[in-house]
Amino acid sequence: MEFPGLLDRFLTYVRIDTRSDEDSGTFPSTMTQLDFAQRLKQELSGIGLSDATVNEHGYVFATLKSNQKEQPPVVALIAHLDTSPDVSGDGVNPLVHRDYDGGDILLSQDTPVILRVEENPDLKEKIGNTIITTDGTTLLGADDKAGIAEIMSAIRYLTDHPEIPRPHIRILFTPDEELGHGTEKLTIDEIAADVGYTVDGEAAGEIEDETFCADMVNIRVCGINAHPGKAKGKMVNAIKIASEILERFPKDSLSPETTEGQEGYIHPHFMSGTVEEANITVLIRDFKEEGLEDKEAFLLSVVVETRGRHPKATIFFDIEKSYRNMKVVLDKHPEVIEVAEEAIRHTGLIPERSSLRGGTDGARLSFMGLPTPNLFTGGHNFHSRHEWIALEDMEKATEVIVRLMGLWAEKRSQKIGGVEP
Ligand SMILES: [Zn+2]
Repeated sequence: MEFPGLLDRFLTYVRIDTRSDEDSGTFPSTMTQLDFAQRLKQELSGIGLSDATVNEHGYVFATLKSNQKEQPPVVALIAHLDTSPDVSGDGVNPLVHRDYDGGDILLSQDTPVILRVEENPDLKEKIGNTIITTDGTTLLGADDKAGIAEIMSAIRYLTDHPEIPRPHIRILFTPDEELGHGTEKLTIDEIAADVGYTVDGEAAGEIEDETFCADMVNIRVCGINAHPGKAKGKMVNAIKIASEILERFPKDSLSPETTEGQEGYIHPHFMSGTVEEANITVLIRDFKEEGLEDKEAFLLSVVVETRGRHPKATIFFDIEKSYRNMKVVLDKHPEVIEVAEEAIRHTGLIPERSSLRGGTDGARLSFMGLPTPNLFTGGHNFHSRHEWIALEDMEKATEVIVRLMGLWAEKRSQKIGGVEP
């Protein structure tokens, strides 16, 4: 399969700055995402998807109708419009390195920025490929412009090849995913699909079916203020009590900076304090719910002990549920992963299930009732000036989408989603 428009599409999209903005009060958080959404809507209409729309929140929806007599399950293809606000995305100037020779790649000469093979062992397998990088001053935005370009190119391919069987395909591009708000203004009825795939993963061949389980613990210490000159026996300093609590946090283990793979962590990520009141916000992450519960029980025991030592202080402990490992939902619908693995195999790649040390829109959608694992885009080093992607991997990702649609077209409609949140 050949996708002649893929590279141009990708290069065009990454040049559009669509960084989301945590401090914005609007939805979507930046207007540039709306402009990009409109552009994609026009492109979808141009391909012949006449129902393409952008709603007031910046979500792009479109449908490519099935060419089957009996209706197979409806499949949603999902990618996000925004890029990470953590790294500059202003004036992205993608560099295209054709016929890659296997060596380090110089991105910028001014203050030398080098993409080193030593730090990117996957580059060794890309000799002869076309590698797309940044110029060392911004992110690239393959996360998730690669996903969008791949979905667009697959849809274009399917409309050019009406003989290839396909189910109803729902296309969904979401704003503000990087802020964790990608599904905030979205209902399952609007998506109107039985199964979904986000195209937002990294290395070729990967399919992510696991995310963290996540909670946030808020600890609020209320002390008693008094004039420092007359405070004896009266003052209860919330700052000191909060620091006693923090002192008990694990340091050599169970922290983001000391864990990897399947390990979870307890991560204090914000604190503020006065004599009268101190607040600590803690992110709790684990792949299993029991793992979250253990960590929360430990924090509660620390708080209870501290309360015992400081009876005049009031210490509140409160758990805010964030998201859950989507594997719980996907395990109930094994075919969603199996079909994707078959599609990946058909392109000559070896499918590899992996878990994401974070969340995705797909995790939230899965619990909303739309089982949604995450397919690879081919990208590497997301949220970084060292972001890179091989055109050949983008072609594979696009081919996976086309083949995946063919495989779903063979299935007869049955209720797949509908999982209670
Ligand atoms: Zn992403």
